[in-house]
Amino acid sequence: MEQVGCVVAGGGVIGIAIARELARRGIETLIVEELGSIGTGISSRNSGVIHAGLYYPECSLKARFCVEGNAALYKFARDYGVPYKQCGKLIVATDSDQLQILTEIVGRSRNCGVNDLQLLSGKEARLVEPELMCSAAIMSPSTGIIDCHALMLALLGDAQAHGAMIAINTQVTSVTAERTGFVVQTIEEQSGHQYEFQTAIFVNACGLNAPALAMNIDALPMDCVPKSHYAKGNYFFVPGPAQFQHLIYPVPEVGGLGIHLTLDLAGSMRFGPDLEWVEAIDYTVNPERADVFYEVIRRYWPSLPEGCLEPAYCGIRPKLSFAGNPVTDFVIDGPASHHIKGLVNLFGIESPGLTSCLPIAQYVSTLV
Ligand SMILES: Cc1cc2nc3c(=O)[nH]c(=O)nc-3n(C[C@H](O)[C@H](O)[C@H](O)COP(=O)(O)OP(=O)(O)OC[C@H]3O[C@@H](n4cnc5c(N)ncnc54)[C@H](O)[C@@H]3O)c2cc1C
Repeated sequence: MEQVGCVVAGGGVIGIAIARELARRGIETLIVEELGSIGTGISSRNSGVIHAGLYYPECSLKARFCVEGNAALYKFARDYGVPYKQCGKLIVATDSDQLQILTEIVGRSRNCGVNDLQLLSGKEARLVEPELMCSAAIMSPSTGIIDCHALMLALLGDAQAHGAMIAINTQVTSVTAERTGFVVQTIEEQSGHQYEFQTAIFVNACGLNAPALAMNIDALPMDCVPKSHYAKGNYFFVPGPAQFQHLIYPVPEVGGLGIHLTLDLAGSMRFGPDLEWVEAIDYTVNPERADVFYEVIRRYWPSLPEGCLEPAYCGIRPKLSFAGNPVTDFVIDGPASHHIKGLVNLFGIESPGLTSCLPIAQYVSTLV
């Protein structure tokens, strides 16, 4: 049986960042990814936004990792030549009831260490974005966008430069705990060959599939595996050059940040994600959902042309709470939670997981 210092299941941005961190600490690390290339799950089906940390409860892992991750990601992008743009974003109040929400966001963000927000009147917001309709806005200068694939390639390249390896088309099927570590069972998709690896550290970073894999870790008590729900987010794009310079967000809604405008690095506009609870993973975008998009977007961009929205893509959030229940934090369970040395499970790594990937990786390395 092959022996390796650590096996990380899942080659998304989280698994790759963790593998890089462990490899940089001198641990021989193997990433096992079931699909044919890295990062085709949640990590390539998102808004690509480097969040500033404006939405999360004080003292939560999301707040802490997002604020740390924002600075760390800009630095990483500069150091490793990953394309990004610190374009800034506006959160807009479109009626007077929402002014209070803006004030709350500013206060909560300040408590979480975000000190660069500016409250703008509607007139001031229109000076920076003439197409915008709002009664007030928050300007967040430290929000930006990043090329997610270039980020994952840079993280993987650095991990490999420090000795990490990757096996693609290979699924982790189960994990057996032993006295000195784990035996990780895998199956190679094309050949059907089964391989086993003996390792002292096992990290489950399987995104949407993390709870299912955790059920196949023999020593893990079932009450350490949270129930997960799929919350699909659909995007529509507008062909042609962008009419805005900043990202534009409405005030947040239950379960998501609201249908917002993001820009990509090529300068195109896209809107989303909306919120659709689904039972199974299905990446088709229903064009009829555009009707709601027109209505919501016109609250802050009244001159959105009729018929211009085209279906783009969608992503699925791994939610630990279902519709109507309080929002949950990231769940990163190490030995203190389940008493199994060397094991870490990551559950519910939804937004701001991309922004948080570097501090999450550091945190996981301290748990093992
Ligand atoms: C609609 C949407 C918008 C978002 N927008 C943002 C944003 O703007 N900014 C931000 O910071 N965050 C955002 N996020 C969150 C961010 O994208 C995620 O937190 C992050 O990408 C999660 O990465 P991951 O590595 O955990 O999951 P994934 O990228 O899904 O990686 C998990 C990997 O595990 C593999 N896998 C699964 N099972 C197995 C197995 N048994 N064996 C081997 N491999 C397996 C999968 O193939 C996959 O590649 C958004 C998320 C969504 C859904």
